[in-house]
Amino acid sequence: MSPFTPSLPGSSAPQSPRIVIVGGGFGGLYTALYLQKYRHLRHSSITLIEPRERFLFTPLLYEVLTEEMSLWEVAPPYVTLLAGTNIQWRQDWADHIDLEQQRVTLRQGDGLAYDYLVVATGMKTLQLPIPGIQDHAITFRSLGDVVQVKRRLDQLAQAAHPVAVTVLGAGASGVELATKVADRLGKKAQVRLVDRGDQILKPFARGLRRQAMQALRQRNVELHLQAQVEAVGPAMVRLDGVEVPSHLTLWATGAEPWPWLGTAVATNAQGQVQVQPTLQLGDYFNVFAVGDIASQDRVTPNTAQNAYQAAAAVAKSLANLTRQRAPKPFRYLHLGDMLALGKGVGGVWSFGLSFGGRLGGLVRRAVYIFRMPTARHRFKVARQALRQLVQGLFKMARRGPRKLRQGLLKVARRVQS
Ligand SMILES: Cc1cc2nc3c(=O)[nH]c(=O)nc-3n(C[C@H](O)[C@H](O)[C@H](O)COP(=O)(O)OP(=O)(O)OC[C@H]3O[C@@H](n4cnc5c(N)ncnc54)[C@H](O)[C@@H]3O)c2cc1C
Repeated sequence: MSPFTPSLPGSSAPQSPRIVIVGGGFGGLYTALYLQKYRHLRHSSITLIEPRERFLFTPLLYEVLTEEMSLWEVAPPYVTLLAGTNIQWRQDWADHIDLEQQRVTLRQGDGLAYDYLVVATGMKTLQLPIPGIQDHAITFRSLGDVVQVKRRLDQLAQAAHPVAVTVLGAGASGVELATKVADRLGKKAQVRLVDRGDQILKPFARGLRRQAMQALRQRNVELHLQAQVEAVGPAMVRLDGVEVPSHLTLWATGAEPWPWLGTAVATNAQGQVQVQPTLQLGDYFNVFAVGDIASQDRVTPNTAQNAYQAAAAVAKSLANLTRQRAPKPFRYLHLGDMLALGKGVGGVWSFGLSFGGRLGGLVRRAVYIFRMPTARHRFKVARQALRQLVQGLFKMARRGPRKLRQGLLKVARRVQS
């Protein structure tokens, strides 16, 4: 079957197509939600296979560590997100995909037949051959990780002695973790950020890197570039041959895609599935791969931004295919980059414009709230953010000079009402 000509013999579109989506992250969940926009798909069967109970809005996970946001905001349950849609959620792992029989085998429940399939299984942490890392370092990828890191930070905040925290990897996640952890623990903690490379945030714009360097410096984060952690213990790391204390070691380096769930398909050197410009899989016009698991000829980043743009494109292609129209190529548009750089502080770079500090933090939070998966959840999170803003204004008003105080109180009351 050709990827571009769905009207070839044997590929006519079914009346009520069965659409199965594997993986409920930015690629899969957003595809399912975007499909809701298409009236002619209202009576189709859309099944989302996802083993986790909650969707993870990964860019805002750091805010949980500093108690700027709660788990309900950044990890809403699928049951709530999918209420009122025609998406059936199967809480299970997909174990195998049979592309010829058009069937997905599940780990526990009955298998599922599909007319169209979207695979969006994302990535997992890349294992590193560092002794002790599995047992004594914590990754920052799952809800369990967030809860564990938060608990450990709460314990360290209570410790009667100075504490040391090591963050491995000076990419976006490492820098965001280091700055948030430094703000959470304050002066009692020595935070160090370690990377084998010679600079932080390699693929990012220079302006954003500068902001990040400044945020690290302001927080006295020790930066160890061209350095290696050679072993991790319960309260130490061996860094370039020297044992140094580390009461918490965070592992923020590298990820690799989950392996394809079936007979081998073409992959790139990183193990990502090679797809057509339309995100269709090789000869299978009815199968799409989206997000971190997919690789096009044109290099796109492994980000939420890429995954939800691709999800919109795939939903549109499915709407087209089910109306006997050809899908269109997906063109990623890089809208910019944003980083958390401490409590309430952020760095934003977009089309040559850059904001930092509190303004950067506010813009970043607002943009991400706007990107939350459903209107209802967006509204709830926005209301909470507004409440916090009002509380902040009240606090400022209480401290400021009389005239400013009266003005701020007036604004705060108006916002609250
Ligand atoms: C801590 C952190 C911070 C990040 N910050 C940013 C950021 O600020 N900006 C940004 O753009 N990107 C960010 N990213 C990257 C972003 O989260 C990913 O690029 C994005 O989630 C990719 O979407 P995806 O759908 O491909 O994969 P995911 O969102 O990871 O979703 C994959 C889903 O598939 C499920 N799954 C896996 N295997 C199976 C199976 N066999 N059967 C059924 N389900 C399965 C998983 O449970 C998961 O829910 C961050 C990532 C992390 C970890």
